[in-house]
Amino acid sequence: MKITEHIANAKDTLISFEVLPPLKGKTIHSLYEHLDPLMEFQPSWINVTYHRSETMFKKKLDGSFEKVEVRKRPGTVGICAAIKNHYSVDAVPHIICGGFTRRETEDALIDLDFLGIDNVLVLRGDAPKNEASFEAEKGGNHYAIDLLAQVTGMNNGIYLDEDIKNGGKTNFCAGVAGYPEKHFEAPNLELDLERMKQKIDAGAEYIMTQMFFDNEKFYAFVKLCRDMGITVPIIPGLKPLTNKKQLSILPRIFHVDIPTELSNAINKCKTDTDCEKVGTEWLVQQSKELKKFGVPVLHYYTLGKPKVIRDVVHQIM
Ligand code: FAD
Repeated sequence: MKITEHIANAKDTLISFEVLPPLKGKTIHSLYEHLDPLMEFQPSWINVTYHRSETMFKKKLDGSFEKVEVRKRPGTVGICAAIKNHYSVDAVPHIICGGFTRRETEDALIDLDFLGIDNVLVLRGDAPKNEASFEAEKGGNHYAIDLLAQVTGMNNGIYLDEDIKNGGKTNFCAGVAGYPEKHFEAPNLELDLERMKQKIDAGAEYIMTQMFFDNEKFYAFVKLCRDMGITVPIIPGLKPLTNKKQLSILPRIFHVDIPTELSNAINKCKTDTDCEKVGTEWLVQQSKELKKFGVPVLHYYTLGKPKVIRDVVHQIM
């Protein structure tokens, strides 16, 4: 079922989760162990992230280094099929521009369509760790809006091969990312929002946000979106803080602010267990307030912390 249908049919606030594919070498059972504790909440869907390859330098026997491309977390398409099959829950693959040509993307979309997966979250992706800025692959999409055009094209039976006439129409419901605290590359929030609106005008059917720890930032973002005529559902992305290192890692990687009250409370903790307790309480409070505000869905980034998320959801159901 499409995300938009889940939301339209909902009688209460929905719950959904995001997982990462297991590291290469692990089996699908590591993912099931991660998800099993969360299934009692009957999530409406589960998002699965997509990861580009990374360039690594491996030392050879003669002491020289060899440059190799390594994909540490492949398997998004297969995992989505496994989730659907194992739990009978909708799976939402993320698809990204970075590291993929448009032809490779087309093939992945064909696989997803054959598997009966009718949702995608359309993203640009980030630059590889050792590169300063994002560069599209030769023959790849540059921005999320270009990838979105490819998806909506296939929904209209348009494939890259011009010889294909009357191509089968896919039926993807596409979501896009939104940033309550602005995307870090955008010069200002206004321009970032204008570009986000372009994605909605181009056919995206909902927005899923970057994590945030201050609900006021989300409320302000929703207001700005509504004021500029964006009417699609806006789904808040939520993550618990669970250790002190995240106080610097999350702002650096995700470009989000941590409110003073939360950072003070985490700094006072003596152990990671104490931090988890503070992070859980904060996320419970955030979730309760967002529910009251009327968000359609509470979407949790589980990122290796399914038990924390379980504690949180238990307290808000
Ligand atoms: P875009 O919408 O393309 O925007 C990127 C930047 O370009 C913005 O600053 C925007 O303002 C600017 N821009 C847009 N259009 C133009 C234009 N025409 N000209 C000039 N500038 C323009 N990454 C992964 O690799 N895998 C994942 O699974 C993944 N999942 C995510 C899930 C969510 C909910 C979120 C919020 C992010 C996720 N990311 C993921 C990270 C995401 O790929 C990065 O944040 C990336 O830097 C931007 O992606 P986007 O889709 O927002 O890009």
